[in-house]
Amino acid sequence: MENKKAYDYLIVGAGLFGATFAHEATRAGKRCLVVDKRPHRGGNVYCEDADGIHVHKYGAHIFHTDNTEVWQYVNRLVTFNRYTNSPVARYRDRLYNLPFNMNTFYQLWGVTTPAEARAKIEEQRAKYAHITRPANLEEQALTLCGPDIYERLIKGYTEKQWGRPATELPAFIIRRLPFRFTFDNNYFNDAYQGIPIGGYNVLVDALLEGSDVRLGTDYFKEKATLDEAAATVLFTGCIDEFFDYRFGHLDYRSLRFEERRLETDNFQGNAVVNYTERAVPYTRVIEHKHFEFGKQPHTVVTYEYPDDFAPGKEPYYPVNDERNNALYTRYKALADETAHVLFGGRLAQYTYADMDDTIAAALSLWKSL
Ligand code: FAD
Ligand code: UDP
Repeated sequence: MENKKAYDYLIVGAGLFGATFAHEATRAGKRCLVVDKRPHRGGNVYCEDADGIHVHKYGAHIFHTDNTEVWQYVNRLVTFNRYTNSPVARYRDRLYNLPFNMNTFYQLWGVTTPAEARAKIEEQRAKYAHITRPANLEEQALTLCGPDIYERLIKGYTEKQWGRPATELPAFIIRRLPFRFTFDNNYFNDAYQGIPIGGYNVLVDALLEGSDVRLGTDYFKEKATLDEAAATVLFTGCIDEFFDYRFGHLDYRSLRFEERRLETDNFQGNAVVNYTERAVPYTRVIEHKHFEFGKQPHTVVTYEYPDDFAPGKEPYYPVNDERNNALYTRYKALADETAHVLFGGRLAQYTYADMDDTIAAALSLWKSL
């Protein structure tokens, strides 16, 4: 007779993927044990309370989506505020609005109408018209925006972020940045956007309601006992680690955060300021209170420094170049044949996924069962 397991699912990782899956499974009457090696829930969306300011401990997180189903799903659990991300870029002693829009073009060239802006950009791009198939990020950026925008707003930021010359980076990274001819500083084109009132922990707690959660628990250190506890495992950690790096290590890009509490009510006037110059070692400064229109007398800012990944550091971004994608494909094939284990989330799927994509993927995995 088969042993009765204490749980239907052991979920490794209390991030958004694991928590969304746990929510669906629990609603369907399944018993879930969620473990995370970190001392808190939420994975990278975790916020720490600094006297009323929710500090995004693993980098700024802005919820934005075009997916109505996901938007309705999260709105059943939390209320979102009206925050719209409008980062400001600082290059030397000048400020520019992002994403590239009429405000930016005015700041760069003094042009005041869309027709003038288009003409100026055409003039900037003309020199690079011979590049029909951009081979790298630099060529992609120059053919899209021309040298002024590239030199001031893209090159330094991108090279810091990825730790490599732009000529050695894949072109697709830069296709993410919208480009528009209206005076609109909204960084995203999505229909819905905001920050959960009370911070992301409220959302994560709602998702994990009804699940047993064990923190400070590294799956690999207690694998045999944990596996024994559940019929099926959902693994949301690094896929190369799961298979003990049998084909080699996947590359990641890491970050280092320097947090400061300042006894001033307003340090930079915006939640996000990007530093696009190579000589400044950090890429952005986040002033957390502005995500929630905070009125506290103090403030908390975080300087974000890109960092090489090494064991013991956080794997923030997958490096989806050819070598790594090929390596991931081999791990994925192993994952597909591993019985009783499901794989999901940005680390197990080695993908750059926003929060809405992560939630959608977890819902879709649940439905597929
Ligand atoms: P994670 O949040 O990484 O959760 C995985 C969890 O698994 C972690 O808590 C980890 O500790 C745990 N784990 C791993 N291995 C083990 C183990 N062996 N044992 C136990 N536990 C383990 N998305 C947006 O939509 N908007 C944004 O503005 C945005 N900004 C971002 C900024 C940064 C710097 C980063 C890195 C990401 C950003 N994202 C943003 C993406 C967002 O963070 C992800 O979509 C989401 O957090 C992914 O959730 P996840 O559960 O897949 O992964
Ligand atoms: N980027 C840039 N200048 C900026 C902001 C972004 O050149 O001021 C480029 C950079 O290459 C970055 C990419 O655009 O990696 C994507 O930026 P986004 O803000 O979407 O990335 P994330 O928040 O995920 O780091």
